Amino acid sequence: PSVPDAEALQHEDVAALLPRPTAESDKYRRGVVGVVAGSARYPGAAVLAVAGALRGGAGAVRYVGPGADTVIARFPETLVHTGPPAKAGRVQSWVVGPGLGDGAAARHSLDDVLGSDIPVLVDADGLHLLPSGGLHGRAAATVLTPHAGEAAALLGAGREEVESGRLAAVRALADKYGATVLLKGSTTLVASPGHPVRVNPTGTAWLATAGSGDVLSGLTGSLLATGLTARDAASVGAYLHGLAARRTTAPAGAPIAAYDVAAAVPEAWRDVL
Ligand code: AMP
Ligand code: MG
Repeated sequence: PSVPDAEALQHEDVAALLPRPTAESDKYRRGVVGVVAGSARYPGAAVLAVAGALRGGAGAVRYVGPGADTVIARFPETLVHTGPPAKAGRVQSWVVGPGLGDGAAARHSLDDVLGSDIPVLVDADGLHLLPSGGLHGRAAATVLTPHAGEAAALLGAGREEVESGRLAAVRALADKYGATVLLKGSTTLVASPGHPVRVNPTGTAWLATAGSGDVLSGLTGSLLATGLTARDAASVGAYLHGLAARRTTAPAGAPIAAYDVAAAVPEAWRDVL
């Protein structure tokens, strides 16, 4: 049987994938997501990624990086760790990259999490530091979440080339890196090697606002920690993120800020159930 090139993500599929805690659940079994983000220059990216991660279904969020005081002041429920990510306990998935910068510390953190045998989501600054040979040797799944400009840089192509052939670009990236790739934009696409590309139907152009991608990476990394596959976590993350943005800007459409999207995730979640 022929495999379709692309398929629209369906509401019922997302509903079936949402993690549901049971009587046996505790915070560790529900999944712990580690967030490696932020820098002196971009402290807010850490806050937004944690905001998304706190609403993605994991039982705990552990922040690792230089912004612990800022993160804790805003979200006291966050666990923090100072020191290298590899020494942080009980983490079941990593989100690395938002606001991380491009210095030696960023590089070490990225190498540290990519060297682990748990799922990793790489976004933003982390994408610029990826090994050019790809991630084919990783023992666990990797998710990359570029926008068109970041995707172009990863492919060594022009941004226009990505914009005019987004389906081909997301597939090429998934194959090149041996990873699940979530290509952001007015329509978000999710590609995993050997699978049809999933097309996300939710979202709004009001999402084109600073920091909204950081919320998405935290949210999606949290879903990864609950045990969803890379492809499913990326799909559900994109779907909920777009729906949350629509819910918060509805009914007439109005400007929204990135944090508003994180705050509306529980509402989007209930809409999907
Ligand atoms: P970032 O560029 O990392 O801040 O991420 C931006 C977020 O906004 C992603 O989730 C994109 O899919 C979304 N986005 C950006 N531009 C648009 C647009 N024109 N229409 C719908 N969603 C968009
Ligand atoms: Mg971004």
